[in-house]
Amino acid sequence: MVEASPIALVLVNRFGKIVYVNSHAEELFLYSKNELPGSDASGLIPEKYLSRIPDFFKEYFTNPVRRRIGESRNVYALKKNGAEFPVEIAFNPIVTVEGTLVMAAIIDITERKKANEQFRMVVESAPNAMILVDYQGKIVMLNRQAEVLFGYQREEMMGEKVELLIPQRLQHHHPELREDFYVRPKARSMGAGRDLFGVKKDGTEVPVEIGLNPIERDNNHFVLASIIDITERKKSEEAIRLYTKRIEDKNKELEQFTFIASHDLREPLNSISSLIELFVESESDKLSEEALKQLGFISQSANRMKDLVSGLLDYARLGKNSDFKKVDLNTIVKLVINDLEITVKNSGAKIKVDKLPVLNVLEMEIRLLFQNIISNAIKYCPPERNPEINISAKNVKGGWQFAVSDNGIGIPAKQKDKIFILFQRLHGRNEYDGIGIGLSHCRKIVELHDGKIWVESKPEIGSTFYFFIPVNE
Ligand code: ADP
Repeated sequence: MVEASPIALVLVNRFGKIVYVNSHAEELFLYSKNELPGSDASGLIPEKYLSRIPDFFKEYFTNPVRRRIGESRNVYALKKNGAEFPVEIAFNPIVTVEGTLVMAAIIDITERKKANEQFRMVVESAPNAMILVDYQGKIVMLNRQAEVLFGYQREEMMGEKVELLIPQRLQHHHPELREDFYVRPKARSMGAGRDLFGVKKDGTEVPVEIGLNPIERDNNHFVLASIIDITERKKSEEAIRLYTKRIEDKNKELEQFTFIASHDLREPLNSISSLIELFVESESDKLSEEALKQLGFISQSANRMKDLVSGLLDYARLGKNSDFKKVDLNTIVKLVINDLEITVKNSGAKIKVDKLPVLNVLEMEIRLLFQNIISNAIKYCPPERNPEINISAKNVKGGWQFAVSDNGIGIPAKQKDKIFILFQRLHGRNEYDGIGIGLSHCRKIVELHDGKIWVESKPEIGSTFYFFIPVNE
């Protein structure tokens, strides 16, 4: 059995002489058969350790018990060719008629050491803090990043329970969670959905993100924890959150203001209009021509202001009372063209509509969007031309891009952005009627869909209004 053992076995007596070696030991130490028995065991030991050997044997034979060396500290053996190699040795006393002998079982751990060294290097060179924890929760390896993150020296952490690095207030559960992980070991991030914290040597807490990896080495189970300090990320997340909240609040405030202001302004305007009407009706025979003319202007202005205020109110209301739903845009455009029937007929407009998609949109708002763009295309056409309008859509990356083209008066390049601003117009009312709110409605509607709107145009030739609606499943 001893001869056939895959482990190198060397039997040595109390005088340090080799009594027997098995063939595996001969192979390992590169000796030929029967060369070793009778020789001194010191021949298998590198010179630098030789001074300790007599003491070792003396001490061992006064207390001959099972013992292992080489597990925690480095022990080397010597081959016949002078090569040293790392070993782990188990000593077993064997009592014979010739007295007690010691059986040394020697394992060459060169490969294991190499693998360990590679593992150590990988851990050391990782960009994150890495900590290897054993089954009992003891830290058995860590890298430089871990020293930096937790502010301890390596030696101060080695051998300590990993709870050293967890704030007291979060510690109570940790040992159980740790044991649980060993029962169901699987690579995962720690504390899903919870905020995790580590604690530094100086007691300050650090927000962290932790990845856990089960590792098996030398038949032992470990957990390799990779830890990232997310202080900076948390700070910028918080800053963004506050900033967004402030913008949202301001936006709400503005919307509220527009809503209330336009709503409340309508009442007195209505009164002014009706009072002028009543006044003109009852007093017309007493008023001069000039006075009647002036009253007519006042009434016109009041009506125009009513239109402006209503437009503003509509603007504030956009998107307020509707929900997204699947809408067939072919139907929507058909309805819009029907609504514009008289305008279309009077202008002699030809409208061509390609196949449009079915999309998840705010129905009323999308209808208003098409209505504004189509009616503008008819309105802003030189009187000597018949408007020709093409409506199409194409599927592009991330959504649908719509195009409504006309053969109208066009828009100078410099004014392409201005026209989407509230109450901005390029013409006087004597040229083209309107209040300058249609396209700002369009922009708000497209933005409510997280899309964008723009125009390309050649003055005198025509314009194409594009808008992109993202499709977000
Ligand atoms: P309104 O039509 O009431 O003036 P809009 O917001 O709809 O308000 O349009 C803003 C301005 O953009 C218009 O006054 C016009 O000068 C210009 N515009 C809009 N559509 C077109 C178009 N299809 N062709 C040329 N100009 C246009």
